[in-house]
Amino acid sequence: MGLEIRDVRAICTAPEGVNLVAVKVETNEPGLYGVGCATFTHRYLAVVTAIEEYLRPFLIGKDPANIEDIWQSAMGMSYWRNGPVLNNALSGVDMALWDIKGKLAGMPLYQLFGGKCRPGIPCYTHAEGADAEQTLERVEALRERGYRRIRVQVGGYGGKNPNLHRPEHPFPGGYFDPKAYMKNVLELMEKLRVTYGDSLEFCHDVHERLAPIDALNFAKALEPYHLLFLEDILQPEQTAWFHPIRQQCATPLAMGELFNNPHEWTSIVSARLIDYIRVHVSQIGGITPARKLVAFCDAYGVRTAWHGPIDMTPIGHAVNAHLDISSPNFGVQEWADSFSGLYPTLNGPLMREMFPGMPEYRDGFLYLNENPGIGVMEALDMSKRQTWGYKSQIFALDWSYFGWLMLASLPTEPPSGRDKQGGCYAEIQSKSAVSGEAPV
Ligand code: MG
Repeated sequence: MGLEIRDVRAICTAPEGVNLVAVKVETNEPGLYGVGCATFTHRYLAVVTAIEEYLRPFLIGKDPANIEDIWQSAMGMSYWRNGPVLNNALSGVDMALWDIKGKLAGMPLYQLFGGKCRPGIPCYTHAEGADAEQTLERVEALRERGYRRIRVQVGGYGGKNPNLHRPEHPFPGGYFDPKAYMKNVLELMEKLRVTYGDSLEFCHDVHERLAPIDALNFAKALEPYHLLFLEDILQPEQTAWFHPIRQQCATPLAMGELFNNPHEWTSIVSARLIDYIRVHVSQIGGITPARKLVAFCDAYGVRTAWHGPIDMTPIGHAVNAHLDISSPNFGVQEWADSFSGLYPTLNGPLMREMFPGMPEYRDGFLYLNENPGIGVMEALDMSKRQTWGYKSQIFALDWSYFGWLMLASLPTEPPSGRDKQGGCYAEIQSKSAVSGEAPV
């Protein structure tokens, strides 16, 4: 009897307060299994259903060696495809199959990808403060910790203006002042360059909040500050605006954490309109499509900067690192360092206990272990650590001028009568609000 898949399980957990979804694919060989990341924090129950109700019966009995065939078949079997729920579910399986492949070979995954292109993985983390001075304090703390590349923000992702002129009876929601936002960021960049000269590299995340013409003006205004990159300056529906932005300034551009479908990146990469592709690997379906994306971008001189946020298991972070260390066109890796005070999740003791083997940060670089496969083990009692009780309130803030929609996840108690099973619930506030204060 040959090797075959015996079972597929979705594992939901929140060891440090953020909903995570992992997948475990078990084989008929005792002790041989693979794990993958399928985390879609804001809709994790939908992902679990896709894994357990649709992928599990499809996969049981199949040969786990045939990764490409399984990926293609699973992607096509629902007919409608490429959405965040199904892509994350498939990613969990795909990563687990690659994990099994590496364990069978007795090699870490990056060896199967062609070996190392570099000894360590340059990474950046996130510094933010309520104002520029506080952000500078956090930048200095991160510099002392070894970071030479830092993403800088003011007031989170910025743009709140308590003095915003309001109409009567404002709708509830969050409100964005693009002019105040751009002014604050430009002042921060000026202070950073005066303080550090060119000794540090800085990036900044717009988080798709600007109207296209403001995005164009903002990218031009930032040009003198020589950013590592400006991130997600446009909404994914507005990427045609990259043409005028590219024609008018040389600020490096990174894009893609909301992308699901290859159609969203093929045109902007092949037209060389961005410098870094920064998709969320589980969001596009896992390692199999990510490796194709690496090769595609390499042909056009576009580098990788995979999304590496808190809402990703250590398995997903390790997969990023395997791709980083083996890709010729790797650029930089986002790393959610809990030292910054903003990311309690990634390096917490319970997270490390549950996912032993995650990449290690040292002095500005990430390093992988040499375990076979992805190298992140399933902790012995992970199933007992299921913490469905994490209460995630998801609300939509309307940054009203441009229809930009921000999702925020708050660890808060649900309203009475909601969320009887202790899972996520969603409360979508008015999208058509025109003024008022954010409820955060
Ligand atoms: Mg981002």
